Amino acid sequence: MAQDSDLMQKIVSLCKRRGFVFQSSEIYGGLKSAYDYGPLGVELKRNIMSAWWRDMVHRREDVVGIDASIIMHPKVWEASGHLAGFSDPLVDCHICKERFRADKAPTAAEGDALVLEYADKARAQTALELIKERYAIELQRDGKTLKGATAGTRGYVCPNCKSPWLSDERQFNLMFRSSIGPVDPLGAVAAAVERGDFAGLGGRELRAKIEEITKESAVYLRPETAQAMFVQFLNVQQSMAMKVPFGIAQMGKSFRNEITVEHFIFRSCEFEQMEMEFFCEPGTDDEWMTYWSEARIAWWQKFSNDPSKFRLRPHEKSELAHYAKGCFDVEYLYPWGWGELEGIANRTDYDLKKHAEHSGAKISYFDPEAQKRFVPYVIEPAAGATRGLLVYLVDAYTEEAVPDAKGEDATRVVLKLHPQLAPIKVAVLPLVKKNGMPEKAREVVDQFFRRGISARYDEQHAIGKRYRRHDEIGTPWCLTIDGQTLEDGTLTIRDRDTMQQRRISVADAVSEIEGLLRD
Ligand code: ATP
Repeated sequence: MAQDSDLMQKIVSLCKRRGFVFQSSEIYGGLKSAYDYGPLGVELKRNIMSAWWRDMVHRREDVVGIDASIIMHPKVWEASGHLAGFSDPLVDCHICKERFRADKAPTAAEGDALVLEYADKARAQTALELIKERYAIELQRDGKTLKGATAGTRGYVCPNCKSPWLSDERQFNLMFRSSIGPVDPLGAVAAAVERGDFAGLGGRELRAKIEEITKESAVYLRPETAQAMFVQFLNVQQSMAMKVPFGIAQMGKSFRNEITVEHFIFRSCEFEQMEMEFFCEPGTDDEWMTYWSEARIAWWQKFSNDPSKFRLRPHEKSELAHYAKGCFDVEYLYPWGWGELEGIANRTDYDLKKHAEHSGAKISYFDPEAQKRFVPYVIEPAAGATRGLLVYLVDAYTEEAVPDAKGEDATRVVLKLHPQLAPIKVAVLPLVKKNGMPEKAREVVDQFFRRGISARYDEQHAIGKRYRRHDEIGTPWCLTIDGQTLEDGTLTIRDRDTMQQRRISVADAVSEIEGLLRD
C-alpha cells in the first residue's frame, strides 16, 4: 500500500477519474459532504453489501433480514432519544456521557454538595479516575457513589450521575426533518404570526411555539437503521417463528446532519449502514458479545490485503453510554490514523424496554422450552458500508515500479481489491482490432454476460495500456484473444496482482473464473 501522506488525494482523484465516486451536483459547485457513486463505485458498494448479506443472513439459520422505511413514526425517535434536542437544548455529561435536556435536569444551586452515583463500583472508580485526571479534583469513593463534588453556576447537574461537569447547552439537530401530509407547516406558522399568536414572545418560548405547530406534521430521515429492528421485533419473531437467540439484519441509507464532515466519504451526511440486532437471553450476552466481535473483525479482514491494519478496541468504561454494558470498535488504520469502521455494542434490554414504554406494546419473548418470559438483551454489530468501501479502497491502492512497454521506469497503479468485491471481474480483450479477434472476444464476453458475471469487452488502445487501465480499477483477470486463439481455441488469462499469464481453453474460460471467484 502506498504510504505517502497524499494517499487520500490519490484515491479521491482515482475515484473521480475512473468512475468510483463523484462529488454530488458537481456542475453546481457540489454539495458539502454529499457523494454520488459512479458506475464502478456502485458495483463495489453493492458487492460489499451483498457479501455482508450473504455472510450475515443467507449463510445463517439464526438471522433474518428486513428492509424498513426510512421515514418512521416520529415516536420511534422520541423513544430512542434522537428527537430530544430538536426543540430543546441538550447537554452532554463529560463523565457518564448521558445526553439530556437542560430544562428537565435536576436543579442544584452553586456550592451544593453533590453525591455522584453510578451503576456499579467499577463505573464509580472509572469516573473517580477520570475526574482526577481531567479536572485535578480528588473525590472520595464509597461503593458506587462519589462524594466531595459541589455544584457550579449552571443551576443543574447530570440526571444520570449528578455530575456538574457538563458541556455547553447545544441544539442538536442530528436528524434531517421534513413534513408529511397536506398541511404546509410554514403556512401554519405564517397564519399564527398574522393572528398575533406570537406577540411578545421571544427566544425559547417563541421557538417552542413554532415547534408545537410544526411538530404535527414533522417526520425525520432515520439516523440509523437499527431502530426498525427493535420496533419490528415482535412481527419478525412471530411471523418467522424465530427462537431466541436470533438476529434481525438490515442494510440501507442513514442520514445524519453531521457538524463536521471529514475525510472524503468517511463521514458524510448521507451514508449506508449494515446493521444487525442479535437478541439473546440475558446472561448469555457476554458470550455473544465475544462471538460477534471476533466474527466481525474476521469478516473485514477476509477481504483485505493487510489484516494487521484492523483491530478490535474495547471502549473504556468512560466512553460507554449509560445503558451500554460493553462496546468494541472494529478500527482500521486509515491514512490519518486509527478510526472506527464498525461498532459492536451490548445494548442490554434498553431499546426494547424503551419502545415498550413509549408505544404501550408488550415487548418480550416467551421461551417455550424453559417456560419463561424475558426481555432479550441485544448485541448490535453496526457497520458503515460506505466507510467500508473507503477502507477497501485504501487497503487495495498500490503503486508498483514496473518498466513500461519501452522498458522505461514507470509506476503501475493497481487496486488489489478482493475478486469478490471487484466491480468488473473479467476484461475480454482482442489483441488487435482485426483478423476475427474482436468477433471471438465478443463471443467470450457474451458467455460471461449469460452467467451474470460482470465482464467488459475492451478494444481501445494498445494491449499494455488496456492492462494498466484494468489494473487501476481492480479487474482481477484479463482474457486476451490473440492469433493463436483462432488456431487452437486457447486464450491467455492474466492475473492482475502477479501479471503472470497462462493459456487456457476458451471453452473453460467461464468455469475457470467461476472457480477463482468462489470462497
Ligand atoms: P463515529 O464515532 O465515527 O461518529 P458512530 O459511533 O456515531 O460513528 P454508529 O452510530 O455506531 O457510529 O454507526 C455505525 C457505523 O456507521 C459506524 O461505525 C460507521 O462505520 C458508520 N457511520 C456512522 N456515521 C457515519 C457517517 N456520518 N458517515 C459515514 N459512515 C458513518
